[in-house]
Amino acid sequence: MELKSGYPFWLIKDGLPYDYPKLEDCLKCEVAIIGAGISGALTAYYLTQAGFSCVLVDRRSVGLGSTCASTSLLQYELDKPLSELSKTIGIEAAENSYRLCSYAVDKIGEICKSIRHVGYTKRSSLFYAAFKKDVSLVEKEYEFRKNAGFKVKLLNENDIYNSYGFMAPAAILSQKGACVDAYKLTHALLQYSIKKGLRVYDRSGVSGINYKTNGAELILENGSIIYTKKIVNATGYEVQSFLSKKVYKLHSTYAVISEQLNNTEDYWKDQALIWNTANPYLYIRSTADKRIIIGGRDEIFYNPVKRDQLLKLKTKQLTNDFKKLFPEIGFIPEFSWTGSFGVTKDSLPYIGVNEEPYTYYALGFGGNGITFSLIAAEIITDLISGKKNRYSNLFSFDR
Ligand SMILES: Cc1cc2nc3c(=O)[nH]c(=O)nc-3n(C[C@H](O)[C@H](O)[C@H](O)COP(=O)(O)OP(=O)(O)OC[C@H]3O[C@@H](n4cnc5c(N)ncnc54)[C@H](O)[C@@H]3O)c2cc1C
Repeated sequence: MELKSGYPFWLIKDGLPYDYPKLEDCLKCEVAIIGAGISGALTAYYLTQAGFSCVLVDRRSVGLGSTCASTSLLQYELDKPLSELSKTIGIEAAENSYRLCSYAVDKIGEICKSIRHVGYTKRSSLFYAAFKKDVSLVEKEYEFRKNAGFKVKLLNENDIYNSYGFMAPAAILSQKGACVDAYKLTHALLQYSIKKGLRVYDRSGVSGINYKTNGAELILENGSIIYTKKIVNATGYEVQSFLSKKVYKLHSTYAVISEQLNNTEDYWKDQALIWNTANPYLYIRSTADKRIIIGGRDEIFYNPVKRDQLLKLKTKQLTNDFKKLFPEIGFIPEFSWTGSFGVTKDSLPYIGVNEEPYTYYALGFGGNGITFSLIAAEIITDLISGKKNRYSNLFSFDR
């Protein structure tokens, strides 16, 4: 499956920072993790910390699935506003989903600190009304978030212009948010966990699974076998071949990064993450090396040929979107890329057990994929350790 194309910035910037071997033998472990993106890496980190003997395999090179294409904004705010999600799944579950993502934003920061990875930066987050008609949505959302205990501020047109330098009729400012380079973080987590006993093999695809009475055999494309007690499936948007039921749709999304600018810290207050109410929404972040990323302009199809044909046009459109908001900033596009991403009905991930024995799924779909990866890593580690996790039903396959 073609998960991405074009020039994902992190892949250019970081290259292939580490080598991992291919699996050419048969081996045994307690937990086999399939997929070395950010979900597999975080789960491997947690499980290794908990003392499990883990093997992680990927059919590509590490991180070269969706993770290297991610623009890596970490937000507690889901694709579905809290006010709307509450209607679909009930207020308690909706608030808990938001709270868990909020927790995940901080927890990823703590993990980065503990593994001495320096690429995590805290950022506030500004959610603005793209159109006048969306002001009531923003106001309602503000009330819902405030009632749920989130630290939010409602901004009017003047506030937005004075602090952020663009025109919008209303916005919610949240203090909680962050950004990373998910590709680099994936490698950092694996390097750390390898020192604690994790075994990582890339270019080692799983072509089949035999379920036995006391565990499973993972059959690799080259015939090697992994004998394992448990499996974590963190195969991202390619998981469909492992599932009997379709739980998500694939869309296409686009991102553009500018050339380096002089002083991104002066362009708008605190270099907040910026996104809006449009459908599909636009989002903007800056990077440590003084560039600006703008993303969005999603299409509701997967077809990679059609998706890639649109890259030139989408690059132009996104560049114009940025210039319309910030005409004074000299945004010159340098790299652009496109990727598929999975969307679920309620914007929530699928985490935990399904029909297959000994198997746990870590499937963070939607715009909050990375925070969902963290939540999946914690829930699955609890389940495998035999501990109760009070949120294990929130993202279950039964919902
Ligand atoms: C352009 C773009 C922008 C995004 N922006 C954001 C953002 O700002 N914030 C955010 O939170 N999320 C964002 N996302 C989503 C986020 O990137 C994903 O949720 C996340 O990267 C998924 O990570 P993963 O590890 O689950 O999947 P992947 O990174 O795709 O990893 C899965 C791995 O499984 C491997 N695999 C699949 N099948 C097999 C098999 N049979 N055997 C062995 N290995 C296999 C694949 O090779 C792959 O490496 C964005 C996505 C895109 C495309």
